Amino acid sequence: MEMAETSLAPESPLAQVRARIARACAIARRDPGEVTLVAVSKTQPAAAIGPLLTLGQRHFAENRVQEAQAKWPALRDAHPAVQLHLVGQLQSNKAEEAARLFDWIHSLDRPSLVEALARAFDRTGRKVPCFIQVNVGAEAQKGGCAISDLPALLAAARAAGIPLAGLMCLPPEDVEPAPFFALLDKLARDHGLDGRSMGMSADFETAIMLGASHVRVGTALFGARG
Ligand SMILES: *Cc1c(COP(=O)(O)O)cnc(C)c1O
Repeated sequence: MEMAETSLAPESPLAQVRARIARACAIARRDPGEVTLVAVSKTQPAAAIGPLLTLGQRHFAENRVQEAQAKWPALRDAHPAVQLHLVGQLQSNKAEEAARLFDWIHSLDRPSLVEALARAFDRTGRKVPCFIQVNVGAEAQKGGCAISDLPALLAAARAAGIPLAGLMCLPPEDVEPAPFFALLDKLARDHGLDGRSMGMSADFETAIMLGASHVRVGTALFGARG
């Protein structure tokens, strides 16, 4: 346990998550600067986001274009250094809006979206780095490309000039996530990609041990979503 914890005011959830990241990095002998904490602020009102901005948190994620559009322009005016990530499924007809709004996209998962994003980047003059989402658990209901489709999707994205940030996964719920994180790490390595967007509130330390570059944390920062 932390020393002197009883004599101090409780740390903010952000400070606690940062400390947990630092501890996981120390155990894994990784530089904490290699791990980006992305605060997943979906469903959270601006009033809940403000305190994190004040404490210096700069990377945030939303899972819906519409919600991000409503919340973020005003917050960004006040905090121009904010980096906004899209972590939800993206419909092709929202690609242009997404290109204007987000700085990172974690959910590129099919050839039609490669095409739509390439067109959106041309039209907006923005080139947003994308993670390819991989359906590591082969779950029918989940987004992400099948592992067997990954080489072709990567080739299509590269041919279309999409900047590739790395791979992203959302492992099956209620099973040990470590094997899926290890799998994503191996796929990224095999394809020469640096970024690994993996790990959420329940498992980000495990993800860091297995090479995560971006952990996406909601509940541990904001409390349970309503
Ligand atoms: C909501 C969400 C998260 C954050 O989940 P928590 O368990 O609240 O930390 C991370 N990644 C994606 C893709 C999400 O939709």
